[in-house]
Amino acid sequence: MSRRRSSPPARSQPAVRNAFDVRRRRGKLQRIIARHGADGLLVVHPANIYYLTGFTGEDSWLVVTRDGALLISDSRFTHQIAEETDGIEVAIAPLGVTRPAFRAQTLEQMRLARLAVESHRLSHAEHAELERSLPRTTLVPGDGWVESLRVVKDRAEIAEIERSVAVAERAYRAVQAGWTGAESESNLAAELEYRIRLLGGSGCSFPPIVAGGVRAALPHARPTEAELGRAPFILIDWGAIVGGYASDLTRVWAVDRIPPKLARVYQVVLQAQLAAIDRLAPGVTLGDVDRAARQVIESAGFGARFGHALGHGIGLEVHEAPRVGPRQKRPLKAGMVVTVEPGIYLPAWGGVRIEDDVLVTRNGHRVLSTLPKEQPDIVERLK
Ligand code: ZN
Ligand code: ZN
Repeated sequence: MSRRRSSPPARSQPAVRNAFDVRRRRGKLQRIIARHGADGLLVVHPANIYYLTGFTGEDSWLVVTRDGALLISDSRFTHQIAEETDGIEVAIAPLGVTRPAFRAQTLEQMRLARLAVESHRLSHAEHAELERSLPRTTLVPGDGWVESLRVVKDRAEIAEIERSVAVAERAYRAVQAGWTGAESESNLAAELEYRIRLLGGSGCSFPPIVAGGVRAALPHARPTEAELGRAPFILIDWGAIVGGYASDLTRVWAVDRIPPKLARVYQVVLQAQLAAIDRLAPGVTLGDVDRAARQVIESAGFGARFGHALGHGIGLEVHEAPRVGPRQKRPLKAGMVVTVEPGIYLPAWGGVRIEDDVLVTRNGHRVLSTLPKEQPDIVERLK
């Protein structure tokens, strides 16, 4: 086992190291660990490891103790860890030692009496293996500890999310400008991904949903080969990953003209979305925000056709805490970034959803996405 500092302190910051204050984040986590009477937290979720260290590799575990942090990895990542991280210790598995054996051995040598683990992220086999190999350590659940920090974004994270929103919007614009009507749902989804990558994103935050006409009645429709120009309208739900951070947007296109029923349903969804966005401010409960949108949809007679939560947090993951849904008592805090995405889905007709990404600020909120939404975008089919 080789154990050393990830980089000498005097070294200047290489360009690959992110701008996040990972030491401060680890400090906050250490206070949570102490508050729970644990000696450390075993972090296995890659997004959490990235959040706490800047390390973007996989197959590695991080142990944050009350006074330090140790990344357990293998030789594929030695150089990358040195480039991406700072101020943590590193244990690299020697050749010929299996990953589980090395992890067990390393943890054993740390002699932690009480180790919290991200038990929801461990497989049953991994958990059983830990219990077997650490007879002197009491394992306790430490789920959600890192996520509780991630829920409130700092300035650098908000800047990344804004970049991610901007890339998603530019990709959308480019795809719209190139639209001919001959594309299939999956063509358009592929175009979005291609544009996002050309614009500097590392990819989509999830496989884009492109659903023409009746298929838009499925909130999570999978793109098909159906030619979109034949549909009267199209729902597009997409997002980018930029600098590790996700965006998530939904817009509706009308092909050639806005059918009257689409116009009616769209306006209900829009009013619901605006009512909910209007409620976003620190101290307001997540349930109240959901309620604001649901009320508008219910009073228009579509209550039963809005079957999902109003929104979710975005950050390093496209779906993360907090959940913006019915009866959520948790209050909003400044620094949370959530989606607001009411929808109405009518089988055999189609569906409408409008989704924007919104930052909760000290005085209220700021909508990070800028694409117009007063009515569906009109796209013209090539004649
Ligand atoms: Zn979405
Ligand atoms: Zn969403």
